[in-house]
Amino acid sequence: MAVDRTLWHASFLPTEIPHFPCPRCSKPFLGIVKDTLHIEETRSSKNNKKSPEWEPEWSDEKFVCLLSCSKCGDIVAVSGRISVEPNYDDDGDWQFAGFLEPMSMYPAPHIITLPQKLPSEVRSEMELAFQLFWSDFGACATKIRTSVERLMDHFKVARFRRAKDPKKPAAPGKLKPLDLSSRIDKFISTTGAIVHKEHLHALRIAGNLGTHNNTLTRTEML
Ligand SMILES: [Zn+2]
Repeated sequence: MAVDRTLWHASFLPTEIPHFPCPRCSKPFLGIVKDTLHIEETRSSKNNKKSPEWEPEWSDEKFVCLLSCSKCGDIVAVSGRISVEPNYDDDGDWQFAGFLEPMSMYPAPHIITLPQKLPSEVRSEMELAFQLFWSDFGACATKIRTSVERLMDHFKVARFRRAKDPKKPAAPGKLKPLDLSSRIDKFISTTGAIVHKEHLHALRIAGNLGTHNNTLTRTEML
């Protein structure tokens, strides 16, 4: 499923908010609700301006705003911080400008289109992943990995295996959880859906990186 990478920037100007897809109807018709953008600067940030070394990037400002869908009327609440960055014009000249850097969107726009028939247990994990994308890539990746577990559940792939004790070959053996890698391989071998093998393992590995290292970048996440 293709991702429109031009849409999911870390920050954007208040006058150039991307046309994110509506979380309810999926149409790219989310726009800012008039007069809802509110920006406040912290007291310490204001005080810092008295310093002779003050630079615009020292500013500490937070924002909130609402987006609404002109098609179905759904509302998305957005909040985050203001990132002061050079803003270049067409001639290559630049000046500092305050970009909106969202840290939360609720409900979050879907980064990929979720199929209509997607099981609800998988859908809810993916919707959490879309939310976490704005605040924590590692947690986002972990949720995507969980969605693969739920997909395996949906296809009734075993969650446990019997581990025989070599000292007691006659005993039935204890139940041990199957790791996701083994579950994916089981799914592929029983369904023959070899076309999905690499994708499913890639999502599992990204999830592991998210859980254990939390060093994923925005591009890797997309
Ligand atoms: Zn809508």
